[in-house]
Parts: sequence; structure tokens; C-alpha cells
Amino acid sequence: MRLSRFFLPVLKETPSDAQIVSHQLMLRAGMIRQQSAGIYSWLPLGLKVLKKVEQIVREEQNRAGAVELLMPTIQSADLWRESGRYDDYGAEMLRITDRHERDMLFGPTNEEMITEIFRSYCRSYKDLPKLLYHIQWKFRDEIRPRFGVMRGREFLMKDTYSFDLDEEAARRSYNKMFIAYLNTFSRMGLKAVPMKADTGPIGGDLSHEFIVLAETGESEVFCHADLVDMGAPGTDIDFDGDLQPLVDQRTALYAATDEMHEPDVFARVPEDRRLTARGIEVGHIFYFGTKYSDPMKALVTHPDGKERAVHMGSYGVGVSRLLGAIIEAHHDEKGCIWPEEVAPFGVGILNLRAGDGEADAACEDAYGKLTAAGLDPLYDDTSERPGGKFATADLIGLPYQLVIGPRGLKEGKVELKVRRTGETHELSPEDAVNRLA
Ligand code: ATP
Ligand code: MG
Ligand code: MG
Ligand code: MG
Repeated sequence: MRLSRFFLPVLKETPSDAQIVSHQLMLRAGMIRQQSAGIYSWLPLGLKVLKKVEQIVREEQNRAGAVELLMPTIQSADLWRESGRYDDYGAEMLRITDRHERDMLFGPTNEEMITEIFRSYCRSYKDLPKLLYHIQWKFRDEIRPRFGVMRGREFLMKDTYSFDLDEEAARRSYNKMFIAYLNTFSRMGLKAVPMKADTGPIGGDLSHEFIVLAETGESEVFCHADLVDMGAPGTDIDFDGDLQPLVDQRTALYAATDEMHEPDVFARVPEDRRLTARGIEVGHIFYFGTKYSDPMKALVTHPDGKERAVHMGSYGVGVSRLLGAIIEAHHDEKGCIWPEEVAPFGVGILNLRAGDGEADAACEDAYGKLTAAGLDPLYDDTSERPGGKFATADLIGLPYQLVIGPRGLKEGKVELKVRRTGETHELSPEDAVNRLA
């Protein structure tokens, strides 16, 4: 992409209404634009990162054996009357009436709808287990939307639903999601700690929140410090094998959110390992048994010929919230520092004197080669002065910057800068391209 053709409305000043660094940087880097409280347009740069994050979530769901579908954003209130949640959900639900005076709503979550789909097609133990997910916009009329995409009203969520014969089988599905989540967040450069969680309005008895520690996080959490640095299991896991030991390893140490905190148990953690911190909830997994399948009559025939309600769980990831969490974890005073897997472009090419024949030719050459190598470069071919180009490149935080100007070219050199460390390498144009490609 050539910057002259792209749409990158960067801001020089930090917007005064943004309180936390991720919100400030997303606005300054031209990633999002607020349209109403908690409702954002995703500008091209933001959308690129959102799509990458979404794709990692998708790949890890698929790897764990979940199957993607897509349900609508607008749902019928009747479904929610069946589960009894239409009245319970309260003011967070955006209720809509269509022209025929039918009660509709913008889905805040999809347990009812997926249960309706399941019961329409699956009747037997032979249809189980099933793990179905979608990645779809949700709406929750949050009382205090804030911190940009961290607490939006409209936000993108990945929600998976599991269907199993009994609790034991449901735990296997739960474990698959538990492990898939660890890998998902780790691929984005995040250390997310699974913590015992309250089940909230969704109900049930087995639940973990995945928390990224950050001072600006809205949750207060308590955990054994060793959990923070325990690596992810890795993507070469056999998801059909026994995952319980991997889960046990991570649930043996103390970790709880505010609602589930037990100070007397926490006190038994060695003092130097006791961590009280704030964190961002990036994922939440629940097993809730027959909470929806009972009232909504999603029944399956067991091998003994009897019909019983199917056991369910649900598993959410805050896809759009993750962008905020990633920036909170990866930035400096100059801007974002994207981990390579989610970077909007792989490398920036900075032409320090656009219009200079030699500089243009060297940049075009690098641009062609890096594009061919699949690096998706962003080529700053504008007439902006070098200082402005450096500032923009640091702000948008691509992992590498290839800086090309007439002065260096006279010595046969270009500069390759690593955004994360700030280290620079003087190389010939060929070596620089080879180093990247
Ligand atoms: P929170 O405690 O932050 O309000 P929640 O517990 O209500 O979140 P869940 O119902 O567990 O949210 O939804 C699954 C995931 O969706 C959450 O773990 C979070 O990452 C994301 N999420 C929830 N609400 C929002 C929101 N308003 N904006 C962005 N992401 C959200
Ligand atoms: Mg909430
Ligand atoms: Mg919560
Ligand atoms: Mg939650």
C-alpha cells in the first residue's frame, strides 16, 4: 500500500476525552472514529488489525475443532421469552420494534439463538459433541461506555457454544476452549491468565475469565505470580487427547476475580508470589449445563433411549476489546508497537525525499520485492518532511521501518529500524530486503 493512496488520518494532539493510552493511540493513529458513545467506525488501519486478531481467533477455534457459522445481529424477543431472559436482561439490551410491532432486539449474546438452531437439527447422542461459533457484532447498552473499544456498546465478539451428552463430556469441550484461548492470546503477544470467575447473568457453575494484567484494567484480580509467566501449551496439541492435565496445571495455582476472591485461601500463597492487580477481561468461558436446553427443550436421545436436555457451555472472546488490550501491553511514548502477528502492515518504507530519482527508484524496488515476499509493506511516498514520517511510523507501530534517503544511498546504504527495540542497522538495499523477506 502506498501511503499517498491510503486513508490514514493521524492526529498530532492527544484527544482530551481519551483517558487511557490504548484509546489515545487508536484515535491518534487513525484506527477508529467514534460515531456515538461506545459506537465506532473502524478506519482502514484499525480494520486491518481487527481482521488479523479475528483471524487468529478463528484459526485457534478451528484447530480446537469448533465449526464456524454466522447468526444475525437482530433477534426475535420471542426466543428470549422462551429462556426467560427477555425480562431478566435489563437495560443493557437494546430493544427494537419492527414495522409490524414485533419485538426484536440487537443481540448482546446468542445462547438462545444457537439453542434454537441446535434443537431444530440435532436429536440424538450421535449428533454430539458439537462446538459451534460465530464472530459477530454485539450490542450492549453499557451504562458507561469508555476507554474506546475496551468498553464499547457495539463490539465484536467471538462466541462459541458447546453441546454435549452430560457434564463429563461438557468438561472435555470446556477444556478444549480453555487451551485454545491460551494459544489464541499468546499468538497476539498477550499473557492472559485464566481466573476463577463468577458466571453472572448467564448462570452455571464452572467458569473462567481470561485476564490480561494492566493497570488500566477494569477488573480487580488476585493470583499466584507464577501463572503470569506460564507459557501457552502451544498449537501442536492433540485436541482429541486428554487436556485435563494441562488445564489442571493452570487451575492448581490460585487465581480469582474480585467476585470469586477468597482472602483466606489467597493468604496461603507464598507472600512473594501473591499478586493483587488490575486486569482486562479478554475472554470468558462458562459451563452452564441445561440452563437453556431445559426451558427451550433442546433434548437429545441417549444410548438408553431416554431423552434428556443437552449440556451446554458458552465461550466468549472480546475481539474488538483485544486491540485495546494489545496496545496497553505493547506501546511506548511514541506510539503502538504491534506484535508481528497482528501488525497492520509488516514493514514501513520511508522515502526521505520523495521526488528524488534515486530515492524513488530504491523505494520502488524495495516495495516491489517486499510485496512479492508477502510482507504487505506500507510505503510512505508522500512529500511530508522526514521528521513527520518518522513520527507517523513510530505512532502506527509497524514492526520494522526501512528508511531510504539520498544521503545514505550515496554510500550504498539504507537503514533498517526495529520498532520494538529501536535498534538500527545500516545495510545495502539488497541486504535490508533480504533480512526482512
Ligand atoms: P465485562 O465484565 O467487561 O462487562 P462481560 O463479563 O459482561 O464483560 P461476557 O458476557 O463475558 O462479558 O462477554 C464475553 C467477552 O466479550 C468478554 O470477556 C469481553 O472480552 C467482551 N466484552 C464484553 N462486553 C464488552 C464491551 N462492552 N465492549 C467490548 N468487549 C466486551
Ligand atoms: Mg458486561
Ligand atoms: Mg465480566
Ligand atoms: Mg464475562
